[in-house]
Amino acid sequence: MPPSVRRARGRDKGVKMNATRLDATGRSLEISCRGCGSVNRVPLGRLQQKPVCGRCHQRLVVDHPVEVTDQTFDALLRESAVPVLVDFWAPWCGPCRMIAPELEKLASEQQGRLVIAKLNSDENPRTSERYGIRAIPTMVLFRGGQEAQRLQGAMRAPQIAATLGL
Ligand SMILES: [Zn+2]
Repeated sequence: MPPSVRRARGRDKGVKMNATRLDATGRSLEISCRGCGSVNRVPLGRLQQKPVCGRCHQRLVVDHPVEVTDQTFDALLRESAVPVLVDFWAPWCGPCRMIAPELEKLASEQQGRLVIAKLNSDENPRTSERYGIRAIPTMVLFRGGQEAQRLQGAMRAPQIAATLGL
């Protein structure tokens, strides 16, 4: 690996938390480039097409869960070219904290094939009500915008992947 790439990876650690987010419309992801740090706006419908950075042409990767809200939820489901796994969670929920790193792992393993979105059910009651979320964590898999499968409780990444047939 050339030294320039190693340096870029080291620098990335500082921005990891904000590396990827949905934009305000819910139609695009804002992805920080690992190479040069530029923020690239990538429409959700183009995620599968191996997008590259507009400035340095390095591959853009989405290997973390993205945050979704009542405002962006519908657009995310409508626009995503790949299945979306939504984690309904809340900050006070212990099992939710347990699955957070498992979802990080899954997002990394499934990059380009699955979007993992986290919805804080305390702050976004409308979507939680609409899907009848009564216990958290609840994970709902959407394919083509439609609910395909629902999982409840704490699970490890391999168990989630196996249950969802990923
Ligand atoms: Zn770049």
